Parts: sequence; C-alpha cells; structure tokens
Amino acid sequence: MALGTNIKKLIEIQNSLIGDFEVVKPGRLLVRSGILKKLCRKEMQSRMFFLFSDTLVCTTPLTSGYRFKTNLSLDGMKVSKPSKEDFANEFSIISTIRSFRLSASTSEERDEWLKTLQNTISDYRQKKFSYLLQTNKCHRNTTGCDALFQNDVDFKLGKQAPVWVPDSRVSMCAKCHEEFTVTFRRHHCRACGKVFCGVCSDNRAPLCYQNYKPGRVCIDCFNYLKAEASILVRNVQHTEHTRQMMDSMKVFFQTFSHGSSHGRDSMWSSFGKGKRKRSSLLQEVKAATEDADTSGYMEIWENKRWKKMWFVLKNKVLYFYRASEDTAAVKSIVLIGFEVQTFGEPFQKVDPSLIFQVIHKNVQPLTFKTENESSRDRWLKYMKQAVIP
Ligand SMILES: [Zn+2]
Ligand SMILES: [Zn+2]
Repeated sequence: MALGTNIKKLIEIQNSLIGDFEVVKPGRLLVRSGILKKLCRKEMQSRMFFLFSDTLVCTTPLTSGYRFKTNLSLDGMKVSKPSKEDFANEFSIISTIRSFRLSASTSEERDEWLKTLQNTISDYRQKKFSYLLQTNKCHRNTTGCDALFQNDVDFKLGKQAPVWVPDSRVSMCAKCHEEFTVTFRRHHCRACGKVFCGVCSDNRAPLCYQNYKPGRVCIDCFNYLKAEASILVRNVQHTEHTRQMMDSMKVFFQTFSHGSSHGRDSMWSSFGKGKRKRSSLLQEVKAATEDADTSGYMEIWENKRWKKMWFVLKNKVLYFYRASEDTAAVKSIVLIGFEVQTFGEPFQKVDPSLIFQVIHKNVQPLTFKTENESSRDRWLKYMKQAVIP
C-alpha cells in the first residue's frame, strides 16, 4: 500500500473509532482488518479487528463505526490453532496481558489471519531487534527469532494470561469431575485457563502477568506456582525490591497453603453425592487428548432423539463425552467384535450418507449421525479398524 493511501486509511479508521486510542502514529501501517467472532465465556461475539504493524486493535462493531475495546502490542504475542478438525475455523491469540480464542467464518479465512499475524509479529520483532542492536540495548539473551507459535512447552504458567476455555465446552470440573449445574458453578483458573468448581479453585496465587496481584487458581497451578516461588526465593539475588516482593509472596503462599489443604479435606467429605457419580466416570482419557485415532462431534440416536456428544476413538475403545474439553468420559465401549454398517436408505429422515451403525448381537445398535460425508467416512475408516481384534 502506498504511504499516502496508508495514512488516509489510518485517518479513516480514527474517524470511525469511538474511544481512547490514537490510530495515526509515525511508521504505523495497516496490515489487515476484518470481523472475527470472539469466544467469550457464554457465547460468540462479533469483533472488528485492525492489525497494524505494531499492535492489534479489538473493537465492537456499531451501526456506524466501531467502539474501541482493547489493543495488544505485538511484543511477545503468539498465535496458535487447535489440532481438532471440529474447530477448523478457530485460532488463539496469546499475549502477555490478555489471551483469547477467535473464530473466522471459514478455515481458509482462519489460515489467512494466522499467516498474516505470524508474518507481522515476526517483522515487528525483527525491527525491534535491529533497533536494540543499534542502540546497544541488546541483552545477551535477546533473540529476534523466538518461536511465534505457541505450544504447551513455551506457555509460562503465571507469566502470561491463559486462553479461557469457553463455558460451553466443559460440563464438569477439570479436577473433581463433578457435573456443573445452575448452582454448582464454573470458575476459571487464572493461571491455566481451565474450568473448575469453586472448591477445586479455591486458592489464590500472585500472578506475574497481573503484576503479582493474587488471582483464583486451581490446586495444580497453586502447587506449581508455590514450588516455583520457593525456587525463586532461593536463587534470586536479593536486592531490596526483590526481597520485599519475595517476602510478601512467601507469606502469601504459606497462608494459603494451609487454607487449601483444609478446604480440600472438607470438600471430599461434603460432596458425598458427587463422589458416587465420579466413580462411574472414566478418567483415563481426556476429551481433548492429542493421541486419539480420531475424535470429534457426532450425534447419537438415544431415547428417540439425536443427542450431540463429543467422541474419542483410541486403542479400539470409543469414549463418550458431554463436552469437547471434558476431563472424564461418561461412557466407553470396547469396539472389538462389533460390526460397522452403513445405511441404504434414510434413517429418521436423515440422509444415508451422514449416518452409520455399530452393532453387536447382544446390545442395542448404536446409530451415529455426522455433520458431513467426509466426517462420516473418517469415522467409518477408524471404526472398521477398531472392531478387528
Ligand atoms: Zn471440582
Ligand atoms: Zn490451573
């Protein structure tokens, strides 16, 4: 884009924007803009994004113009995409202060956004790196080529805001597997972003990305952060400032570790009803497992209606989940000895190319419905392998 056109474009955006953000800045270029759906806790909301050469701006579309919501510097930003086919339109933005999941309208559009974001972040880093070199501010371990792609290995617990798992993708607490209800509510761990019940996330820990302001964390994150803090306390060279910070963290963790072990004990005794339910759940495979043969949403014919569930096929076992991020299955079937059949004509008015059946002489046939034919064929392929001993 010619420079003149770029400035014109920036002024145009400035004029359409309500809120406190200065769009026009020397050296800033507009790279890409467009509407994406943001996965909030309860629902998907439309957001208009403007990707500039140094920052990503998120706005709410109005009948005319946009309301400024937030801007995230490209410094330290990473992008990631889910490996599951069912979420082919989605990707995550991970930045130090805020992280979230977005959804494009097609997987092609998603891939374009990912590519543009990666290139822009990379360009931004290169520029910053060469600037640091020139001005001699470069520290020994500053590199211009950190991984731009987020994976579990380089996500630093407590250092970055996690992507919150949307409420609709979990039906149970990630720790105790108790099912959520209107009164048994969901809470997000501010360190890992997973969803827990109140009891399993009844700990607070100072989080680096919130300037060590305490945030609700799950038991596992609490223990991890506590261990990390104690290592820090031992290894850090104690200037007056760090000593003060460390001391307050130490006191903090001590206070809360007492509270948490107490809370845990009382929880197991006070949730007797849930305990019974839990024992029937299968915890060996998580719904979001990466090493499944295949996984995804299907509908199953049950009690004269279609019920949408998340399925995982692994080692000849089919696991049933209520939601795609659940940490325990509600049911499982060993498929060895079953027979896989397709339909010659519609079943319950559903096109035969979308359905198949898994049958065994001693049990009710299981009838599955998929979203499209390619998904049906994928399931057929893996099911047929799984029924062979
Ligand atoms: Zn729980
Ligand atoms: Zn956690």
